[in-house]
Amino acid sequence: MSTKYKFQEVRSQIILDLLPAYPTQLSDYKTSSRLGEAIFGSPLPHPNSVLDLFVKCKVSFALPFAYYRTCVAGDPASLNTNAKETVLPTNIVKAALRGQARLKEEQVKLAKKLAMQDCKAWVCLKQMPSSCLPVFNWILPETTTREGILEKGDFTKSRYCSQCSRTFAQGLSDAQKDTWDNLPSYFGLSSWEKSADQTF
Ligand SMILES: [Zn+2]
Repeated sequence: MSTKYKFQEVRSQIILDLLPAYPTQLSDYKTSSRLGEAIFGSPLPHPNSVLDLFVKCKVSFALPFAYYRTCVAGDPASLNTNAKETVLPTNIVKAALRGQARLKEEQVKLAKKLAMQDCKAWVCLKQMPSSCLPVFNWILPETTTREGILEKGDFTKSRYCSQCSRTFAQGLSDAQKDTWDNLPSYFGLSSWEKSADQTF
C-alpha cells in the first residue's frame, strides 16, 4: 500500500516537472523557455521516443504536444525513421500521420487566406499577385523544417504596408489559437481539459 502511495507521489512530481516542456495552454507554450525534449537534457531524446514513453505511461496531458513535436518540431523525417530505438508502434504512427495532415491543412488554409486578402490602404495592390509568393514561402511547411504553424512568427520584414502586416499578424495569431485548441482532436485524443483530468 505504502509502495503504491510512494509511486503515485513520484509520478505526480515527474508530471509536474514535465508541465513547462509539454504545456497545455497556448500562453504557456509561448512563454516556456524549454520546450519538448529539451527538458530531458543532453543527449536529447528523439521526439518519437518521448511520445512512445508518454503513451505507454499514460501521461495524457502531454500527448497532444508530444505528437506535435514528432510531426513538425523534431526531425522532419522522424515519422519514417528506421532507427530501432525511435520506431513507433503502428497505431501511434497512424495517429501522428493523421494529425500531421491536419496541421499541414491548417497551414495551407492560413497561407491562402493571407495571400488573397485585399490591401485596405491600396498600397500593396500593385504587388499582387507576385506578393503572394512570400506569404506561401513563409507559411508553407515544405519550405522550412523543424517549424510548424505554432513556431511561425510575424513576418513584418516583408514588403507589405503596416495595415496588411497587422492583418497578417492577426490571421496568424487566430490560426495558432485554433490549431492549439484543436490539437488533441488532430491526433484522436481527448480535449485538453479531459486529458489533464486523466493524468492527475
Ligand atoms: Zn497593404
